[in-house]
Amino acid sequence: MRYRGREVGGEGRVHRVMESTLTARDRVGVQDFVLLENYTSEAAFIENLRRRFGEKLIYTYIGSVLVSVNPYKDLEIYSKAHMERYRGVSFYEISPHIYAVSDNTYRAMRTERRDQCILISGESGAGKTEASKKILQYYATTCPVTDHMSTIRDRLLQSNPVLEAFGNAKTLRNDNSSRFGKYMDVQFDFRGAPIGGHILNYLLEKSRVVHQNHGERNFHIFYQLLEGGEQDQLSKLGLERNAQKYHYLVKGCCPRVSSINDKSDWKTVRKALTVIGFHEEEVEDLLNIIASVLHLGNTQFGEGEDGETQITTESHLTYLSKLLGVDGPALREALTHKKLTAKGEEMIGPLSFEQAVAARDALAKAVYGRAFTWLVAKINQSLAFKDEVYNSSKGSSSVIGLLDIYGFEVFQHNSFEQFCINYCNEKLQQLFIKLTLKSEQEEYEAEGITWEPVKYFDNKIICDLVEEKHKGFISILDEECLRPGEPSDISFLEKLEDTLGGHAHFVTHKLANGKTRKAVGREEFRLIHYAGEVNYTVNGFLDKNTDLLYRNLKEVICQSDNQILSQCFHREEVTTQKRPETAATQFKNSLAKLIEILMSKEPSYVRCIKPNDAKQSGRFDEALVRHQVKYLGLMENLRVRRAGFAYRRRYEAFLQRYKSLCPGTWPNWQGRLADGVATLVQHLGYKAEEYKLGKTKIFIRFPKTLFTTEDALEA
Ligand code: ATP
Ligand code: MG
Repeated sequence: MRYRGREVGGEGRVHRVMESTLTARDRVGVQDFVLLENYTSEAAFIENLRRRFGEKLIYTYIGSVLVSVNPYKDLEIYSKAHMERYRGVSFYEISPHIYAVSDNTYRAMRTERRDQCILISGESGAGKTEASKKILQYYATTCPVTDHMSTIRDRLLQSNPVLEAFGNAKTLRNDNSSRFGKYMDVQFDFRGAPIGGHILNYLLEKSRVVHQNHGERNFHIFYQLLEGGEQDQLSKLGLERNAQKYHYLVKGCCPRVSSINDKSDWKTVRKALTVIGFHEEEVEDLLNIIASVLHLGNTQFGEGEDGETQITTESHLTYLSKLLGVDGPALREALTHKKLTAKGEEMIGPLSFEQAVAARDALAKAVYGRAFTWLVAKINQSLAFKDEVYNSSKGSSSVIGLLDIYGFEVFQHNSFEQFCINYCNEKLQQLFIKLTLKSEQEEYEAEGITWEPVKYFDNKIICDLVEEKHKGFISILDEECLRPGEPSDISFLEKLEDTLGGHAHFVTHKLANGKTRKAVGREEFRLIHYAGEVNYTVNGFLDKNTDLLYRNLKEVICQSDNQILSQCFHREEVTTQKRPETAATQFKNSLAKLIEILMSKEPSYVRCIKPNDAKQSGRFDEALVRHQVKYLGLMENLRVRRAGFAYRRRYEAFLQRYKSLCPGTWPNWQGRLADGVATLVQHLGYKAEEYKLGKTKIFIRFPKTLFTTEDALEA
């Protein structure tokens, strides 16, 4: 939100392409929503987006926030020449672009010596991951590099295909949907060259390993391996080159996707693994894990002579023991029995058919999920800034963080995953409010202009509802998961009602007068989020929160010869009496850390919008866009930004642009810049209520004032 120091650097390269002239405005709308006359009108906002989208102008600002609409086609605006055009140029002198944000952020980091972050949000398919890749490419191409550093640069770029292979999947909304949240720090040295990186990952959607909805796929890597892996490699893994043969790959009836080439993607991933520095043995261990998941999926159970559950697919079990590097008979027993402790004694009890299936699926999810975490850690090792390679640590370094994280989600059925995702969005909104208001206020103060308070909805109340100690949602959930007896999703819902019943943002089917609210089902609760109301089905909350893997399965995997697994599953896990942290608490803690990281940096925002549900270019579905404008909080964002002044500009830039309109300032103004601007606006007839002069900037209250001046330039 801050412009301090950002406009400078563009002098001498002023571009005359500001799209605010009269004719251009009619055709392509305004390039900054703050210039909308009727800035509180949602209809005007959407009309401006639509016009620009129609002209293939997918980017628009709200102040320094970039709004981006997915074009669903290659617009050819990301070439090296485009990158060059945005280098060192200020926001307003050239069309809005993701490169402008990349460049401004980079320059702010360099000139202010302050860590930066770019927060990218939007719903699935809106273009977040593409945006983050464009930013990274911009830095990789435009920042200075030496030989040593080119390795880091390549690794930074190559981490993307690897993480996407393991963490992305085809969904109904997006053929390449990220199924995890990602925060990546890029570290730059004092010369502005990239010297390292670090990735934090959030909440991988592990359930996808064992189940996919109709029309969706499992994670890309499985299909890539089957399509692209060499024949002898597949034979060693006991796999056939046919995704249809694997239960875990066909739940969504969609093994092939026209926009995806698994075979060539496999080659890209293999190469990327080498660039990042994976050893052959590590790749082998990783593939063994991938293959073991497929064998687990095909492991079937039947009934033995005495009615006991037994494994009926011996060949898969043989491969499993080999690939997981564990003892075969022990694995067989652990997949069909569980250990119980009764009265201090350990006993082995048989699993029912359903329990065995659940244990098998839990193992597949755990193995895949932990391998993913290992993968991120391994990439981090290779991206770590190494002093011995590059010994110029005398100069200080700064970072730019990129956050590509799931946007607000509302489906027909919303479960634990949506709850976590939407909670995450509440936290980010809270951060946005704090930082935006703070920086607006700071700028006014720095400029010596009176701060005019803005009214806004503070969503802290919802964050507290979820995370407060003892009486918050997550505490109640954890308590119910740990409770002896027979806790269930329904008993959890009852507890929620007891504790949160009167809360303004929590609703169940029960009305205070004893009647029933029809809009909320009996197994549902509703949260009134800042972005809107969402009903959640309580089913599965307890299981997903405990994320249980039977202890005897853990014991077997802890003994694994597979180096990755032995690093992921520790012996202490089975020896300790301590309960592991629940999924919700883990998520809450990792979010708190993330917010802390982001708070310490200066933020920029990219808000991505999906124009239609058909993944088609050129289609702008107004209703769909309106939804997102609401969920992204864009109107509120604009209101805060416009509350005082629509427009602000540094004196030198303002004078440079408009001095030709006033004989007293043209061609050269001699004297203080502020006096020059004062002379200029007096000549232009600005009224006192229309503007204010700060220490370094002019603040203009209404867009009309600026437009009149712009139009005078054209005349
Ligand atoms: P998810 O939350 O599911 O991960 P996302 O917001 O990360 O979604 P992307 O994967 O970035 O969405 O984008 C979805 C698809 O839209 C891309 O695969 C690409 O085809 C298209 N797309 C996105 N941004 C652009 C762009 N700037 N230019 C052209 N196509 C784009
Ligand atoms: Mg994505």
